[in-house]
Amino acid sequence: MSRAVRIHAAGGPEVLTLDTVEVGDPGPGQIRMRQTVCGVNFIDIYQRTGLYPLPLPATLGMEGVGVIDAIGEGVTGLSVGDRVGYPMVLGGYAEVRLIAADRVVRIPDGIEDTTAAGILLRGCTVQYLIRRIHPVQPGDVIINHAAAGGVGLLLSQWAKHLGATVIGTVSTPAKAELARAHGADRVVLPGEDLVAVAKEMTGGQGVPVVYDSIGKDTLMTSLDCLRPRGILVSFGNASGAPPAIEPGLLGAKGSLFLTRPSLGHYIATRAELEATAADLFAFLVSGKATVRVDQRFPLADAAAAHEALASRKTTGSTVLMV
Ligand code: NDP
Repeated sequence: MSRAVRIHAAGGPEVLTLDTVEVGDPGPGQIRMRQTVCGVNFIDIYQRTGLYPLPLPATLGMEGVGVIDAIGEGVTGLSVGDRVGYPMVLGGYAEVRLIAADRVVRIPDGIEDTTAAGILLRGCTVQYLIRRIHPVQPGDVIINHAAAGGVGLLLSQWAKHLGATVIGTVSTPAKAELARAHGADRVVLPGEDLVAVAKEMTGGQGVPVVYDSIGKDTLMTSLDCLRPRGILVSFGNASGAPPAIEPGLLGAKGSLFLTRPSLGHYIATRAELEATAADLFAFLVSGKATVRVDQRFPLADAAAAHEALASRKTTGSTVLMV
């Protein structure tokens, strides 16, 4: 048996219930994990509210870290006692869970459980955003929205390491300070003209890429910050679903590119998952980035974690301690 935080209907944080569930033994190709920490991500909120509908009841959570305590038939390369974690597999808010063995990765010794649970999903996201969608180049001036958030803090640090100049957006002076301390060269607060800053910092041209996780409130402004043939990466909806954009508008604004990526499609194969996590772990153990897990809640307080993340009260990553 295991305690797990589930939803039986879509809705507000009050629909999260702490249930006792039967876990059972791992089937062929599966392992059973005894989890220590699980990540709380914005996608959990989209799933809870029904923006991304789930078959119900569902155990929420897309990220976790723990130790293998049983192995199913046909699993090779993993042993009982191995410390593993996973990004983007539903069922994370639980003490014990079953999971496909080919969806977990070993956590390197230098990265402790809480850090791993706070950065595996967000860090794999940053990897595909800045290394694959638009491989950030020395000299690039880039825009990173929500630069004091979990994704945002790592994105600035990694992009800066790759030689970029980072413009970050945040909502408060305290968040601005944090963003600056983690790689943002120029921070834009509400009321400032982001387009003007983007133009000013690129000799009037505009930036080659905008990473926009805020959606509804920012997407159209993000488009106006791009140089001709620049790319708008719309990868989240923190303020609500972004507006529709006609292809003709992309043409009129300078043959722009628009993509709406999801981590699941960038780690779809075992090889992609391994390569993405390996690149992330190599960057983290190099000591060139600081991972901040600023909010830790007990598993039973998942609702409070959701409320904090949705109300813009958090910085860095948020986790549930099991
Ligand atoms: P964050 O820690 O970045 O939290 C979200 C931040 O968005 C807030 O702190 C806030 O920062 C900003 N924000 C702006 N407007 C609003 C609003 N109306 N309501 C709430 N927040 C708002 O979260 P994560 O690091 O977990 O995720 C960042 C984003 O990345 C999310 O949108 C998430 O969905 C997306 N994501 C996408 C993935 C993908 O593959 N497509 C994978 C992983 C994450 P501020 O107060 O400074 O404005």
